[in-house]
Amino acid sequence: MGARDGSSYISRLKAHPRDVWIAGRKVGDVTSDPVFRRPVAAMARLYDCQIDPQLRSTMTYLPDDGDEPAGVSFIIPRTHADLVHRRKAMQVWAEATFGTMGRSPDFLNTVLASMADAPEFFAEVGVGCADNVQRYYRHCRDNDLFLTHTLVNPPVDRSKSASQQADEYAYLGIVERTKDGLVVRGAKMLATHGPTADELMVYPLPFSVRPGEEKYALAFAIPVGTKGLRFICREPFDRGDQSEWDHPLGSRFEEPDAMAIFDDVLVPWDRVFLHGNVEQANTLFARTRMQSHTGHQTAVRGLAKCEFMTALAIALSRSVKTDTFIHVQEQLGECTGYLQLIEGAIVLSELKAEPSGHGTLQPALEPLQALRYHIPRFYERMVRLTQVLGAGGILANPTEADLQSDIGGDIRRYYRGAGIEAEAKIRLSKLAWDATGTQFGQRQLQYERYYAGDPVQTGAAAYRMFDHKPLLAMVDRALRLS
Ligand SMILES: Cc1cc2nc3c(=O)[nH]c(=O)nc-3n(C[C@H](O)[C@H](O)[C@H](O)COP(=O)(O)OP(=O)(O)OC[C@H]3O[C@@H](n4cnc5c(N)ncnc54)[C@H](O)[C@@H]3O)c2cc1C
Repeated sequence: MGARDGSSYISRLKAHPRDVWIAGRKVGDVTSDPVFRRPVAAMARLYDCQIDPQLRSTMTYLPDDGDEPAGVSFIIPRTHADLVHRRKAMQVWAEATFGTMGRSPDFLNTVLASMADAPEFFAEVGVGCADNVQRYYRHCRDNDLFLTHTLVNPPVDRSKSASQQADEYAYLGIVERTKDGLVVRGAKMLATHGPTADELMVYPLPFSVRPGEEKYALAFAIPVGTKGLRFICREPFDRGDQSEWDHPLGSRFEEPDAMAIFDDVLVPWDRVFLHGNVEQANTLFARTRMQSHTGHQTAVRGLAKCEFMTALAIALSRSVKTDTFIHVQEQLGECTGYLQLIEGAIVLSELKAEPSGHGTLQPALEPLQALRYHIPRFYERMVRLTQVLGAGGILANPTEADLQSDIGGDIRRYYRGAGIEAEAKIRLSKLAWDATGTQFGQRQLQYERYYAGDPVQTGAAAYRMFDHKPLLAMVDRALRLS
């Protein structure tokens, strides 16, 4: 099949029922359910980009071992041009949602591609594991499946390890090995798009499994409709009835988040990528170099989101001409400066891409890890500046219903801005508030803070991986020690 369109994505969801719970009820068909219909439609629009005649060459590539064009995010890059091609495709999807859909399919596609690019690691893991990864990669690429993932143990008692929790299966673990596969039980979070994806991957975060806790060392992938797998969603912000006029982002781009519960789920052996080895579990990230590839996607998406936030701050200021004041210009300049830094680091990661040793390339990790740490901070600052610049005006706005009612005249008269009619100014302010202040906007902020795990770990790892020698040599030189 190769790169698919939105209607193929929707048909596949319809054909594969799943166990999804939200707001006290079991969901039937996610494609027609009021809560999920709009997120599904947003995702379908992304898939439609792949068959758009003007975008097709940007969005797809022909794999060496495939017959049909596949989505570029599945590519295993071999050249600088491949990296640039992938970046441009990621940019199309990121800009289509203004960077608000963090878990668009290109994120996990890069994970899978990096695993497929590490056959030597999976060959060490166990008999058949390397073949399993290769087969699974081709299956997802050639059917253009939408993957999500759950890596994190739920926050039960963070002072204790997996086996020390009161419930042995508070965290996902292996119950038994049968001739058909692994039986697993427990919980993992947070499956963004779990209810609306095709496949769920589970793999361990670096150094998350303690020595002696082999039963929690596992990596696998299963269809989301697998028996025993349940998704418990967080409370939805949009129950399908938000007005696009009043909630221009939340009504279109909400990403469902869910806890994944595994009730003695059988994972067939051909879907097991790693099991029972703590060291391999803890080094999977490093050995597959996946952070280089996921970091490329998250940086491109982060740039689109920061560009959007900067655009909102500028448009809001212009709507009341506060951009004529020097201190406001300085704050807007701070935002445009962040955009330059992000773009520069992305390009640097491509220019300094490193060979894997078997003809493939990964973007340089250091600039991308720097962005993984700093984009959330830049973004948080931009959100704050947008709210401060928007002040009361960003919040104090009537609804579309008010505008259509008997008081519409007052609204048209008293809500206008500097050279902008009332309706346009209200809509702009609502867009900015939806991006920053509503439940949707606040989740966006929380997502940036935590989507990549604990930022304390990310920052500390950046310090540890950095080559300190040239820096310290400068100190020695200044002291005339060398
Ligand atoms: C909106 C959203 C969507 C997400 N989507 C996904 C997804 O699709 N897939 C996925 O796998 N993950 C996803 N995540 C990330 C994931 O679920 C976690 O939120 C993230 O890894 C952080 O873990 P935590 O929430 O358990 O926080 P914790 O790790 O518990 O951290 C909470 C706080 O406690 C501190 N802390 C915790 N443990 C320790 C310790 N041992 N020592 C010192 N300090 C400690 C941390 O520094 C932090 O400040 C998502 C997160 C969000 C917010």
